[in-house]
Amino acid sequence: MALLQNHIAVVTGAGSGIGQAIASGYAREGAKVVLLDVNAQAAAEAAREISQSGGKAESFALDVTSREDCVAVAKQVADKVGHVSILVNNAGIARRNGMLGALETVIEDWEDIIAINLTGVFNVTHAFLGALRAAKGRIVNIGSIQSFVHVRTPSSPAYTASKHGVLGFTKALAAELGKDGVRVNAIGPGFIETPLNEKVRASDPSLVKIFLDHTPLGRAGKPEDIVGPALFLASDLSGYVTGSIVMADGGYRTI
Ligand code: NAP
Repeated sequence: MALLQNHIAVVTGAGSGIGQAIASGYAREGAKVVLLDVNAQAAAEAAREISQSGGKAESFALDVTSREDCVAVAKQVADKVGHVSILVNNAGIARRNGMLGALETVIEDWEDIIAINLTGVFNVTHAFLGALRAAKGRIVNIGSIQSFVHVRTPSSPAYTASKHGVLGFTKALAAELGKDGVRVNAIGPGFIETPLNEKVRASDPSLVKIFLDHTPLGRAGKPEDIVGPALFLASDLSGYVTGSIVMADGGYRTI
């Protein structure tokens, strides 16, 4: 039997990159997938591709920073699609300004990044919590190597703080929801080639080299590299795993 047969999986930020790959991978393993993204068109297109390949997919527009919209979409999903048993909190942004830039920029980065990468995870989780508890579901949060360390390439303190927060939230939820049979884990991707870092890859190959020199596997990751860990954490293969983070970083954190 396929790994996720009879599951309904919600993936945020599923119109692009890692989220899109996870949604497709889950659909290939039998899940009905619900793609949510602030970019409604991208989510709809990704859902169409999944359907055309024989999978089951629906899409809805969702900005994870709006708590009200999260609640409304959770209701729509319950009414139109069914009982959600898997949630992947993937939507996120990155910016590369340090703390010492123009004050407005530093503040704007902090507010946007924390609102999407951390409060967004809270908002969506809260909205789907009832369904996930009823289903003894699984939550997979997308962290980063920056859930543990900052990086030598330019990156904002807000991004590192947000991804540390995602790991902390993962542990807190795992501790609280374990008795309900809900498992909560994270994935820590390394440098993955997606639209998130398209500009920097094109404009500054030296930054990519800094990452790759620090990566034992010696290559950047592809969105598909995150699908295996995401399947593992959402499926019964990880039945006794909760509160953990699976690093998919080419070994970055080992050196
Ligand atoms: P991506 O290709 O830019 O995809 C992120 C998706 O999330 C985009 O469709 C984006 O829409 C959407 N999004 C942005 N703000 C949103 C909001 N407020 N509500 C709902 N959706 C929103 O990025 P990615 O590289 O796949 O990143 C996915 C996750 O992996 C993020 O949490 C990121 O921090 C994490 N991650 C990535 C890497 C990497 O190297 N790529 C490494 C570690 C962790 P728009 O395009 O319209 O903004």
